[in-house]
Amino acid sequence: MLRSAPQSLIDELSAALPGQVTQNETELNRHASDESFHKAIRPDAIVMARSTSDVQLVMRLCSAANVPVIPFGVGSSLEGQIIPVEGGITLDLSEMDKIVEICPDDLIVVVQPGLRRIPLNDRLAKEGLFFSVDPGADATLGGMASTGASGTTTVRYGSMRENVMALEAVLADGTVVRTGSRARKDSAGYDLTRLLVGSEGTLAVITELTLRVFGIPEAMSGAYCTFDRLSDGVAAATLLVKQGLPIARCEFLDGLSVKAINAYQGTSLTESPTLFLEFHGSKKSIADQADEAGEIFREYGASDFTWTADEGERRKLWQARHNAYPAVLATQVGATALTTDSAVPLSRLPEAVEYAQQVFDDQPFSWSVLGHVADGNFHALLMFDPNDEKAYLAAKAASTKLTTRVIELGGTCTGEHGIGLGKRDSLVNQVGSETIELMRSVKNTFDPGNILNPGKILFPKESA
Ligand SMILES: Cc1cc2nc3c(=O)[nH]c(=O)nc-3n(C[C@H](O)[C@H](O)[C@H](O)COP(=O)(O)OP(=O)(O)OC[C@H]3O[C@@H](n4cnc5c(N)ncnc54)[C@H](O)[C@@H]3O)c2cc1C
Repeated sequence: MLRSAPQSLIDELSAALPGQVTQNETELNRHASDESFHKAIRPDAIVMARSTSDVQLVMRLCSAANVPVIPFGVGSSLEGQIIPVEGGITLDLSEMDKIVEICPDDLIVVVQPGLRRIPLNDRLAKEGLFFSVDPGADATLGGMASTGASGTTTVRYGSMRENVMALEAVLADGTVVRTGSRARKDSAGYDLTRLLVGSEGTLAVITELTLRVFGIPEAMSGAYCTFDRLSDGVAAATLLVKQGLPIARCEFLDGLSVKAINAYQGTSLTESPTLFLEFHGSKKSIADQADEAGEIFREYGASDFTWTADEGERRKLWQARHNAYPAVLATQVGATALTTDSAVPLSRLPEAVEYAQQVFDDQPFSWSVLGHVADGNFHALLMFDPNDEKAYLAAKAASTKLTTRVIELGGTCTGEHGIGLGKRDSLVNQVGSETIELMRSVKNTFDPGNILNPGKILFPKESA
C-alpha cells in the first residue's frame, strides 16, 4: 500500500527543521537503495536528524499523517532494509555522529547512532580501547545495532547482540524510551535492548547506544593456510573452536574468492580454499596459539600454514579478506549479487557448505563461498545480470533450497544481515506461523499505525 508524504507534510517538516529536509534528486537516489540487488525506490523526502528532539518531531508529524518513516544509517545493508516500499520519509541519522562519553574504567562508550565504526575505533585507540564488531562496511553503530550485525571477530568478542548494553530510542508516537543499563549484568524485566537490536528500524528509532568496548591486546598475529578441498578447511576450523583455542578471527574463502582478490588488489595468494586467522594475547600466547592451530591444520591436509606478528603484514592479510565482496562482484562487469547468510550449528557446517556447493554447481550463474567459519556462518555470493530475470529466479530458487536445508540442520536463514525484504519467506519457514503472529503483535504494540519501516521483516498483512 503506497502512503506517500503529501507536500504539505514535507513543507511542515522543512519549516520546523530549516536546512535539514531535502528533495534533491541526487540525495533521493542515494537513499533509494542499499548494497543489495533489490529494486531501488526513492523516498518522497529526506530529513537529516541532528538530535533526539528532531527525531521526536519527525515521528509525531509522520504518525499524525500516517506516513512511513525509514531510519537510515549509510545504506550498507544487504537485504533491501532501507528501501521505502510504501513511500514516505527517509530519516537519515548520519549527522548524529558524536561520541557522548568514553568510560575507560567501565569499558563502556556512549555514542549517537550515526557514528561510524572506523572513526569510533580511531578515537578509542587513543585510550587503548577498541570496539570489536566489524562488518566489512564502515557502517553506523545505529544501523549495525538495527541489523544485529557481526563480523570477523565475533567468535572471540561477540556480535552487536552481546555488545549493546543500553539504548535510547524514539517510538512511533514520538515517546522517548531507555532500555538496559551500564551494569555488566542486568536481569531487570523484559530485555527490550535485545528486542530492538535486530529490529531493522521497524520498532523504534535508536538515538543513543551504550556499547561494551575492550582493551587492545598486547600482541596480535595473522595467519593463513590453504586446503585442496573447502570441506577440509571447514572441518579443521571447526575442530579448532571445539578445542577451545581462543582464536580472535577465523574466516574461510573458496578458491574463486581468492582468485578474485588477487585480480582486485594485485596480491599473489594461492588460489585454493583458504583459512585466514588472527590470534590476540601476550607475545608468548599468540605464538603458542599459532603453533597449536598449525598442528591441527596440517592434520587436515594444509600444506602451507604461515603466521606473522608483523603489523603491516597482518593488516594486508585482513584487507584482502575485507575486499572479498567487491572483488568477487568485480569479476562480472555489471553483475549484482544475491548474498546468502546461512548459519548452522558448528558440527553441521562442513555438511552445509558441501550441500551449498552441490546446489550451486550447474546453475546458470557464477558463485563463490566465503564465511565466518568459527561462527558456523557462511555466505554464497550468487551473481547475475540485474536485467536477466531468468538468472535472478534461478539464484533465488537455489538460495531457497539451501536455506530449507540449513533450517533442517537446526540453523538460521540469516546469521548477521537480517531479514529486510529478501528473507521474509525464509523467516516464515524458519519460525512458523504462530511465532510470526507473535512478532506481528510485538510490532503492533510498538507501532500500531505501521509507519516505522513498513514491509520489512514481516510481509504486509494483506499479502501474508
Ligand atoms: C562489503 C560489505 C560487507 C558486509 N559484511 C557484513 C558482515 O560481515 N557482517 C554484517 O553483519 N553485515 C555486513 N554487511 C552489511 C551491513 O554493513 C550491515 O547490515 C550494517 O549493519 C548496516 O549499517 P548501516 O549503517 O549501513 O545501516 P543502513 O543500511 O542504513 O540501515 C540498516 C537497517 O537499520 C535501520 N536503521 C539504521 N539506523 C537506525 C537507527 N538509528 N534506528 C533504528 N533503525 C535504524 C534501517 O532502517 C535499516 O532497516 C556488509 C555490507 C557490505 C556492503
